[in-house]
Amino acid sequence: MRYTVLTLFPGLIQPWLEESLLKKARERGLIQVEVVDLRAFGLGRYRTVDDTPYGGGAGMVIRPDVAVAALETVLPADEVILLSPAGEPFTQRLAEELSQKAHLVLLSGRYEGVDARVEAFVTRTLSIGDYVLMGGEVAALAVLEATARLIPGVIGDPESHRQDSFVRGLLDYPQYTRPPVFRGLGVPEVLLSGHHQEVALWRRKEALRRTLLLRPELLREARLGALEARWLAELDRED
Ligand code: SAM
Repeated sequence: MRYTVLTLFPGLIQPWLEESLLKKARERGLIQVEVVDLRAFGLGRYRTVDDTPYGGGAGMVIRPDVAVAALETVLPADEVILLSPAGEPFTQRLAEELSQKAHLVLLSGRYEGVDARVEAFVTRTLSIGDYVLMGGEVAALAVLEATARLIPGVIGDPESHRQDSFVRGLLDYPQYTRPPVFRGLGVPEVLLSGHHQEVALWRRKEALRRTLLLRPELLREARLGALEARWLAELDRED
């Protein structure tokens, strides 16, 4: 998979790519990441990239001619994504869909955002949550990480993302490791029992219990088996 990140602050992206799993994925040729400095497309002697908003108001807006000139140098791409708080919510389902593509372009805004006409030049606008960041770089990296980890070979054990939160529409089950007792808090007995089948059943039920408790709205879309549907009815009765 090839990623192109367009940003006014390339220095924010680069270090993220130089550690841990993304570094390994790049070294092994599983992903390629190109970071393009929007400033290089700025106008005039001062490489101006922004201007005041038409109609007045606070802040500056990234000019469409600058953003689109930069975008056009990195095409073709399967998806050109503008990061914006006003975008479609980015979800695990979208991460799965985007991870199948060959080339994603991620356009990060700054200031008051990007001139709205740029939306005519992108394939989608994505938001990573209902809050406002200072710029699109963290959002671009969130999309990059969530999609890259689904590319075969990027994370060690492919089993680990089959059970991740949201994959089946449920939160992940709670995880524990050593020590068996920490400050008086123990580990559920079944996890120490060595009974793999019982552990698997416990985990499925806990994933359901946690989702019901913390994110009940997810259950409307969750892919539940017959056993889980029965547990859910039982858990509902326990309430
Ligand atoms: N005035 C804009 C608004 O309220 O929608 C906010 C602009 S924000 C300060 C600057 C840039 O950060 C945006 O252009 C976008 O690229 C990025 N950004 C901020 N919050 C984001 C979010 N929740 N998801 C995706 N991108 C975000």
